[in-house]
Amino acid sequence: MPKEPARYIQCYQVKIGDNEWVHIPGCWAATQDPACCTCDISGSELERAQQARREAEAYIEKLHDRAHERTERLNQMFQTNKKIHAEMRKLEQILAKQTA
Ligand SMILES: [Zn+2]
Repeated sequence: MPKEPARYIQCYQVKIGDNEWVHIPGCWAATQDPACCTCDISGSELERAQQARREAEAYIEKLHDRAHERTERLNQMFQTNKKIHAEMRKLEQILAKQTA
C-alpha cells in the first residue's frame, strides 16, 4: 500500500493559559523567529522572490565592480595629468629662461 506523502504542518498558536499562547513552528524560519513564518507564502512565490533577490544582488555586485574599475581609471588619469602638468611647468620655465 503506497504511503501518503507527509502533510505540511503550518505554524499555529496553542492557548496554554488565560492570556498565554505558545507558537508551534511549522516552517523552518519560524523556529528562529515566529515573525519570520513563511507558511503563507507558497513555495514557488518564495523561490521567485529569492531568485529575484539573488539576481538583484548579482547586479549590485556588477555595479560595484564597474564603479571600482572606473575609480581605478580615474586615478590613473589623475596621475597621468599630474605628470603632464609637471612636464608643462618644466617646459614653461625653460621657455621663460630662453625669452628672458
Ligand atoms: Zn510558519
